[in-house]
Amino acid sequence: MYRNTTCGELRLSDVNKTVTLAGWVQRIRKMGGMTFVDLRDRYGITQLAFNQEVNKDVFEQANRLGREFVVQATGVVEERYSKNSNLPTGDIEINVTELHVLNEAVTPPFTIEDESDGGDDLRMKYRYLDLRRQCVRKNLELRHKMAFEVRRYLDEQGFLEVETPVLVNSTPEGARDFVVPSRMNPGQFYALPQSPQILKQLLMVAGFDRYFQIVKCFRDEDLRADRQPEFTQIDCEMSFVEQEDILNMFEGMSRHLFKVIKGIDLPKLPRMTWADAMKYYGSDKPDTRFGMRFVELMDVLKGYGFSVFDNAAYIGGICAQGAASYTRKQLDQLTEFVKRPQIGAKGLVYARVEADGTVKSSVDKFYTQDVLQQLKAAMQAEPGDLILIICDDDDEMKGRKKLCELRLEMGNQLGLRDRNKYSCLWVIDFPMYEWSDEEQRLMAMHHPFTSPKPEDIPLLDTNPAAVRANAYDMVINGVEVGGGSIRIHDAKLQQKVFEILGFTPEQAQRKFGFLMNAFKFGAPPHGGLAYGLDRFVSLFAGLDSIRDCIAFPKNNQGRDVMLGAPGIIDQEQLDELQIKVDLKD
Ligand code: ASP
Repeated sequence: MYRNTTCGELRLSDVNKTVTLAGWVQRIRKMGGMTFVDLRDRYGITQLAFNQEVNKDVFEQANRLGREFVVQATGVVEERYSKNSNLPTGDIEINVTELHVLNEAVTPPFTIEDESDGGDDLRMKYRYLDLRRQCVRKNLELRHKMAFEVRRYLDEQGFLEVETPVLVNSTPEGARDFVVPSRMNPGQFYALPQSPQILKQLLMVAGFDRYFQIVKCFRDEDLRADRQPEFTQIDCEMSFVEQEDILNMFEGMSRHLFKVIKGIDLPKLPRMTWADAMKYYGSDKPDTRFGMRFVELMDVLKGYGFSVFDNAAYIGGICAQGAASYTRKQLDQLTEFVKRPQIGAKGLVYARVEADGTVKSSVDKFYTQDVLQQLKAAMQAEPGDLILIICDDDDEMKGRKKLCELRLEMGNQLGLRDRNKYSCLWVIDFPMYEWSDEEQRLMAMHHPFTSPKPEDIPLLDTNPAAVRANAYDMVINGVEVGGGSIRIHDAKLQQKVFEILGFTPEQAQRKFGFLMNAFKFGAPPHGGLAYGLDRFVSLFAGLDSIRDCIAFPKNNQGRDVMLGAPGIIDQEQLDELQIKVDLKD
């Protein structure tokens, strides 16, 4: 037997027991006639003590250990003189009488401790060593727990977990596909699923009624902190449901997760229309941990000879409470922030509300105190507040997006985006379509199987851009954690939606014919949604990047630097696949 206890278990009540533990050597401290070793396993750290006087051979053996050696130690549990209150096992140590080196280790390239000296690249290259660190491992433990609780909740609600294939055809989420060549069908390719969307809809046609799957999805997109080329969805679909049924079911799932994992009682989730989210927060995933809602100021500030505002298509402001004390330098930095090319504002106008209620602005020469007081009233600003104003010459939405960035930055600066505080909501009534400048056509905002709101169906013929969809997102702290829709289950309506998206009947038939055919055999009304598990876990863990809750993530070039993937393959393999690689450099 390698061990009869772990490195996380022993307490004062175990004193005098003889135990055997196994694990990795984290630290060695040599103090004259005593040597102390921190032994680590998944469960914790236990101090091993070696006393020259008591057992010389074992003491000398201990002095030859190196970091990350794998060892087995037997000894008696004793109370420690100097206790370590930071460790659950910190009251005891093991007086070791027998030590076996199970495996030696070369010196690791970085320290395996919470505060490591290893940079990102190094830690990714030796991810298996990085994963030995408790701070990394605990994110994966959390992930396991969340996935487990999702399964428990959905099972209790009668959902069946069904696996869908990974080698499929192009699926309709609108990103680029990863493709896999077929040896048996030269010149033909599978695509990896961007989501199991069509397959879960077919399961509804098949009468499965309630489906879910915790499933890998693949999208070949440019990477950001909250994106990986392969990521995990909690993918769900239900039959005979309306939007309300879905929202209730999955609000329940989120409530369950918050309760059992974080001990938080989630209040009833507020709902915000997409139109309001854009108007008041400039984003379809508003961070509602704090207020600072936008106030539109076209009526207040236009027409006083300040040409920047007079010519603007949008003027909007936010009120930063208590920030009137911002210095000139801080205001200049904010102006630089909004002028960065990623945001692209031409400038920033500010107005301070002084202690006596008067308003001092950066554009005082155009505005009388009277008008500035109207501004103050519109913004509901109080003495001590700072009003920040952004405009855009050509487009309302562009102006709002800029103001959104500024609002989030102010939220950061004023400490209003606390990781331990959660604010969840549903954003509903998304538009069906959005205009793509690149493609010069309307594109599905969610995906082409999303149902329009019944009352907006007539608009499909007259003004498709104004049609709202039965689509919804769950947003937590400014992160879209999940989204879905009620689907179209009527072949004729589906045909029409495809037409508006610019598919000819032949193209639609070729791409999605099997789904439309399936619908001819009796499709129930159905709908669903998918959560991004990685995002959900990283929110619960308070992480900046989803990478830290994925065991073996890719870097932002989409590479796995540990495996060296993607890599080149042998000519023989290429020949077999009948693929010619002709790299121009
Ligand atoms: N398939 C969708 C997505 O991946 C989710 C859904 O509509 O259920 O975003």
